[in-house]
Amino acid sequence: MTPAISKAVFVMLAIGWYLIRYQYARRSRRETVLRSDRGPRETALLLVSLCGLGVVPLVYIATSFPRLAAYPFQPSLAWLGLFFAAASLLMFQLTHRALGRNWSISLDVREGHQLVTDGIYRKIRHPMYTAFWLWAVAQALLLPNWVAGFSGLVGFGILFFGRVGREEQMMLETFGERYREYMARTYRVIPLIF
Ligand code: SAH
Repeated sequence: MTPAISKAVFVMLAIGWYLIRYQYARRSRRETVLRSDRGPRETALLLVSLCGLGVVPLVYIATSFPRLAAYPFQPSLAWLGLFFAAASLLMFQLTHRALGRNWSISLDVREGHQLVTDGIYRKIRHPMYTAFWLWAVAQALLLPNWVAGFSGLVGFGILFFGRVGREEQMMLETFGERYREYMARTYRVIPLIF
């Protein structure tokens, strides 16, 4: 593994994610939204996350900016990063397939919204956020730069902690007892830990 290949792995992760998301985003756009908790706060959270997981690392890959934050490349970390990147893409594929038309980039409840509690959603309530955490860890392992490597963990961390409670509240108000029971028997992002 070389620094150039390591950067290429990150670019492939971003392209792979986009290709998976694109097919499902097109389908879900046609579904009517009954309730939405979107607003300036959600938009700001999405932008921060997009910068941390996408803009900052891609600018670094294209320009090496910020050079001052660079540290020596370690092939073993990059190999581990490749593993996390592959796991992240697999989780994106599984979660998009499971959510189907219920997916949304923000906090929406659609007409005929189905609560998904099976498959990849059986033990964890937010496996798509697990996929983004895997992305952020992959980014930190693949890019030997304190800023570009860690901006994903910070950016997505802000989105995650700023959103997940409100999302669960929205699900509770929509699905009531069913979501409460689902919460009682599941973890948020990592089985047995969180
Ligand atoms: N937090 C989930 C979903 C992210 S997509 C995950 O990480 O896998 C965000 C949208 O998914 C929200 O608009 C919400 O309406 C919907 N959603 C969240 N959990 C859901 C579930 N278990 N079943 C169906 N839709 C869900």
